[in-house]
Amino acid sequence: SGKIIDGKEIANSIHESLKNEIEELKSKTDKVPGLAVILVGDDKASHKYVSMKEKACKKVGINSVVYRLDANTTEEEVLELIDKLNKDEDINGILVQLPLPNGIGEKKINANILPSKDVDGFHAVNTGKLFLGEEGFLPCTPKGIIKLIKSTDIEIEGKNAVVIGRSNIVGKPTALLLLRENATVTICHSRTRNLEEHIRNADIIVSAAGVADLVTETMVKDKAIVIDAGINFKDGKLVGDVDYINVKKKASWITPVPGGVGPMTIAMLLENTVEAFKKKWS
Ligand code: NAD
Repeated sequence: SGKIIDGKEIANSIHESLKNEIEELKSKTDKVPGLAVILVGDDKASHKYVSMKEKACKKVGINSVVYRLDANTTEEEVLELIDKLNKDEDINGILVQLPLPNGIGEKKINANILPSKDVDGFHAVNTGKLFLGEEGFLPCTPKGIIKLIKSTDIEIEGKNAVVIGRSNIVGKPTALLLLRENATVTICHSRTRNLEEHIRNADIIVSAAGVADLVTETMVKDKAIVIDAGINFKDGKLVGDVDYINVKKKASWITPVPGGVGPMTIAMLLENTVEAFKKKWS
C-alpha cells in the first residue's frame, strides 16, 4: 500500500522556516512582508479560502490586508484599488481571489497587477517567464505540487507524467513545471480520448480536473506517484479526483484530500510573498 504525502506537515515545516526568515528580515529591515487580498462578492468557498490565507499569514508574520468588497463592486473600482496597492511600499504581494463576479474581467485584473507583486503568478509576464524557463513568480498550486512530488525523493527526470486538466491556474503550469524537471509530460483534458490509456503509462499522475472518482485503481500503474489537486463534494464530503482508498493500494505515494495539495498552495503563497519582499528590500 502506498505512502501518504502529508501536505499539511510539509506546509507546516515551510511555515516554520518562513516564520524564522521573516523574523530575520524584520530585524534587518524593520519591515515585514505585506500581502493584500481582494475578495469580491459572497462566494462561500472563496471567503473560506481567504480566511485560511489570512490565518496562515498571521501565523508566519506576514501582514495581510484583506479587502472584502460586495458583489456589485465595479471593475473600475477594483482596478483603482489595485493601482493604489501597486504603489503601496508596504504591500509586496497582491492577490485577487477567483472566481470574480460577472462584469469583472479576470484578464484585465491580472494584467493590472504589477508583475513584481503578482504572488499568484497569473500575470502574463510571469506565465511567460514560466514558459521560457526564466525566474518569476510561479503559480502557487503547481509550485506546491512539484514540492510534494520532490518530497518523495523519487527522481522526476525521465519519468512519464500525466497531468489531467489544462487550466491556466493548475493544469497547464503544472505540465510546464514537470517538463522543466525533465519529465515526459502528457496533458489530458475533457476532450481526451481514452484517458485511461494515458494514465496507465504514467509514473506520476497529477489530477486537476474537479471530477470525483475520475482516477480509479485499474487505471493506475503499479507504484505510481499520485497527486490529487481536485476539490469536489461527494455525499457531503470533501474529496479529490482520485478514488483514494483503492488507488492508494497501488500507488507508491499519494496525496490525501484534504491535507495534500490544498495546504501547500497556501504555503507557496506565503513563500512567494516573502520572495517579493526580499526582491524589494534585501
Ligand atoms: P478548471 O475547471 O478550470 O479546469 C478543469 C480541467 O479539467 C479542464 O482543463 C478540463 O478540460 C479538465 N477536465 C474536466 N473534466 C475532465 C474529465 N472528465 N477528464 C479529463 N479532463 C477533464 O479547474 P481548475 O481551476 O484547473 O481546478 C481543477 C481542480 O483543482 C478543481 O477541483 C479545483 O477546485 C481544484 N483546485 C485546487 C486547488 C488547491 O489549492 N487544492 C487550487 C486550485 C484548484
